[in-house]
Amino acid sequence: MASGSSAGDAGATDGFTLMSITLENIDKSFGSFRALRDISLEIPDGELVGLLGPSGSGKTTLLRIIAGLESANAGRILFHGQDVTRLHVRERKVGFVFQHYALFRHMTVADNVAFGLDVLPRRQRPSAAEIRKRVGELLEMVQLSHLAGRYPSQLSGGQKQRIALARALAMQPQILLLDEPFGALDAKVRKDLRRWLRNLHDELNFTSVFVTHDQEEALELSDRVVVMSAGQIEQVDRPQALYARPVSQFVFDFLGHVNVLAGEIADQRIAQRDAWIRLPEAVPSGAAQLYLRPHEVRLQLHPVDHAYLPLQVESISLVGAEVRLELRPCGWDAPQLWEVGITHAEYNGWQPQRGDRCFAVPDVGHLFRPDCASPGTFYWG
Ligand code: ADP
Ligand code: MG
Repeated sequence: MASGSSAGDAGATDGFTLMSITLENIDKSFGSFRALRDISLEIPDGELVGLLGPSGSGKTTLLRIIAGLESANAGRILFHGQDVTRLHVRERKVGFVFQHYALFRHMTVADNVAFGLDVLPRRQRPSAAEIRKRVGELLEMVQLSHLAGRYPSQLSGGQKQRIALARALAMQPQILLLDEPFGALDAKVRKDLRRWLRNLHDELNFTSVFVTHDQEEALELSDRVVVMSAGQIEQVDRPQALYARPVSQFVFDFLGHVNVLAGEIADQRIAQRDAWIRLPEAVPSGAAQLYLRPHEVRLQLHPVDHAYLPLQVESISLVGAEVRLELRPCGWDAPQLWEVGITHAEYNGWQPQRGDRCFAVPDVGHLFRPDCASPGTFYWG
């Protein structure tokens, strides 16, 4: 339990204090199931970190351990260099917002925001006037002052989540934890709230950990993204670096569509049935998979010197900034259809139809081999 040197002492009582988070070799099992394996992570103060991974990868469990709602079987948690591993959730001064943050239905918006302060022991509780003032400021911050007297049932989903956030912030947390806070909202509202949360984070400068299974949300919102898979960290990186240099096939697959040529390498070429690509440098022979993102491939009507990848147009999507083609390999196989984007100008010049033949020209490719932990990236031209 809390001792005299609680984490709260590290921060001022007034305003928001920056807190770094250190996770050291965190392990967590539920019965015989190991939900987290040896998680170590350093989150500098003021950073907004996204925990990204498929359902069941351990994101919520890790967040609950940081909050103190769950205890780890092994490992340490430090806030601002102080060991909080054994500190009770109440002593950790973290705020959290969940996907379905139940607001109290019988309380107004203002009373919901004030709740955590109202129930503090008398010694710690600010005066009624002080609480009113703080609630007013928070409602202004989440731009919902005009709804102070309403009840939760009179709010939209997005407004409820903003109130939930105001309620979390009322306690002046040093760390803010968010578990799929926008998961239940529709796409447009999600996007708006995402931008709004990022601005709020930058303005207030707390340290935030944000859970999502949505790649776009993680890449757009986070300073750094932690990709999790089966209770382990696959990769930690800034969004651009993560996207440019995924360290594993798992991360690659998880971050969006990928075009794959799976084949055998011999004589500096990777080949499968009719298809082949000549690699810019020598690589040991054997089985391999070349991954290419939609924008790392061009389409032409004739093959080039370094690749022979015949494709047939399967579908054409004109909606969006570019025209997206789905293409079926001809005389070779791929785990899924290839996808390549072309500009609307290219589309107008070429006027492709369903069933048309063309050739893929790789500009960049990422080669995975069974004996290598991380891919080799190649550039042509
Ligand atoms: P995520 O948030 O990434 O979807 P969770 O952290 O919720 O994943 O769960 C990770 C794994 O741990 C899942 O397989 C889940 O079933 C299991 N798990 C989580 N909480 C419990 C619990 N209280 N008891 C048993 N198993 C649990
Ligand atoms: Mg979860």
